[in-house]
Amino acid sequence: MQDIELYTRMLGITTPWIVSDVQLELKQRTVTVLVSYDATIPVACPVCGGQASIYDHQLRKWRHLDTMQLKTVIECEVPRANCEKHGVKQLPVAWAEPNARFTALFEALVIGWLKEASIKGVAELLHLSWDEVAGIQERAVNRGLTRRRKQPLEHIGVDETSFQKHHEYVTVILDRKRDVVLEVLDDRKAETLEQWLRDRPVHHLESVQTVTMDMWDPFIRAVKDCIPDAAAKICFDRYHVAQHFGKALDKVRVQEQRRLLASGGASPLTGTKYEWQKNASRVDNRSRKDFMALSRMNLKTARAWRIKESAAALWDYRYRGSARKAWEGLLSWISRCRLEPVQKVGKMIRRYLRGVLNAIIAGVSNAMLEAKNSRIQWVKKMACGFRNRKRFRMAILFHLGGLNLMPRSLKNYAFGSI
Ligand SMILES: [Zn+2]
Repeated sequence: MQDIELYTRMLGITTPWIVSDVQLELKQRTVTVLVSYDATIPVACPVCGGQASIYDHQLRKWRHLDTMQLKTVIECEVPRANCEKHGVKQLPVAWAEPNARFTALFEALVIGWLKEASIKGVAELLHLSWDEVAGIQERAVNRGLTRRRKQPLEHIGVDETSFQKHHEYVTVILDRKRDVVLEVLDDRKAETLEQWLRDRPVHHLESVQTVTMDMWDPFIRAVKDCIPDAAAKICFDRYHVAQHFGKALDKVRVQEQRRLLASGGASPLTGTKYEWQKNASRVDNRSRKDFMALSRMNLKTARAWRIKESAAALWDYRYRGSARKAWEGLLSWISRCRLEPVQKVGKMIRRYLRGVLNAIIAGVSNAMLEAKNSRIQWVKKMACGFRNRKRFRMAILFHLGGLNLMPRSLKNYAFGSI
């Protein structure tokens, strides 16, 4: 009898539910708390709240938080109400969401752990299967997405990111104003992005002021097809432009290093890959002196680096006219630089210069894009690759969607805090 009272309090079981028995299985280190519906209280239809009769009972089990280091399971014969209007419906229980196999508090615990650890890690910690933990995460994300208020968009970002071994891509859509990931689309095709945009109400697209992205034709096409006056709103931001220069520089370095080594002797480029990629201001003091000497040498890599650094300095203009003049100066230098990978980037920027200038004038900061990107890399790293796109989408929305993930029934729940 003492156990029953203890568990009634500990689990916060209140009328019409009562704890009828507590069964301890020490060998399995499990305690099963039997809860039943108080037969003296008439049932109401869960749909209309009207009078109903009990049709039958169905046995259900929920894993709960451990109590006194024992795996704790709630078991209940849940009545099904029979309403004249709505037919046979199972009564909702106070401690769990419909169809859940875990109590709301237990799900909350799993959700809390998932913020810090991988599905595999949480499964091991709580003695659950991988699928059970993934299921809790998926329900949490879907719950959050249902709750999320659809609002007119203002500043959005569209970006591709790879999952698995760099061969497969998804599209990440950012709400740059609210600093959250809105959605993760299955591929990086124009049609897919277009479909997502077309699913928004028209006034949610009319309110868009900037769309930040990389110079990627499918995205550009989709945005131009769906967002009014898109050419004035598309911003090719500093983050992506710098990435192109960085990649071109690295190609130049690899080619030059190969040539230098082939001609015999040591190369001054050996071991310098990352020095070239840093911003000039970020090269630390110890290597700075050596690096500055290296950068002044008559090397193709040094020339590509100077162009990259010059491009990085062209983002602080307030007027379109002066920004255009500065970029055209750089582009004309690039066209004469005789470094093929850099010239390719130059041609691309010339084609898309309007969008680069849009980004400068709109003052699009790359801090958020960089931060989101590094968080996505963290999500990838933690999971050690994803089985499929669906799981990758779930993980990104779980961590970066800004969603309200917790089970609703926690609100009216007397279980107290974890
Ligand atoms: Zn009813």
